[in-house]
Amino acid sequence: MAEERTLAIIKPDAVSRGLAGEILSRIHKAGFAIVAIESRRLSREEAEGFYAVHRGRPFFPDLTAFMSSGKVVILALEAPGAIARWRELMGATDPAKAAPGTLRKEFGTSIQNNCTHGSDAPETAAFELSYFLSGRQLL
Ligand code: GDP
Repeated sequence: MAEERTLAIIKPDAVSRGLAGEILSRIHKAGFAIVAIESRRLSREEAEGFYAVHRGRPFFPDLTAFMSSGKVVILALEAPGAIARWRELMGATDPAKAAPGTLRKEFGTSIQNNCTHGSDAPETAAFELSYFLSGRQLL
């Protein structure tokens, strides 16, 4: 499988509950290399731009308020097949439907507060990595 990069976010619900360390540990154990890592709070505008594809959905205002409500951890992860493998480790969007052992099953509390984000395709990964991280951070 080809070496690939994906954009991961540990969302504010997980950071505020002190779960970032545990999630980072699982990332290491699963064999991902952390190419870049940054912890900061997103502005509402940044969250809106990031989730622009969902603009117009009923949950868009709540989602962007949530994503800018506290610190997040932004990560560039690298591994063979990283995009699909990170999605697998996170589990389904809705924690209630996520498989046992996945991050969202264990740490997510609602379809919105589902503890992590991951790019869903090579095109979105390219956009999302460059949205948050500079070329220098991705060297
Ligand atoms: P993902 O790729 O698994 O993160 O899922 P989506 O791209 O469909 O949705 C993006 C994010 O929006 C999800 O991770 C959730 O945080 C949130 N979200 C998705 N569906 C809903 C919903 O029906 N209600 C609310 N409040 N949030 C949602």
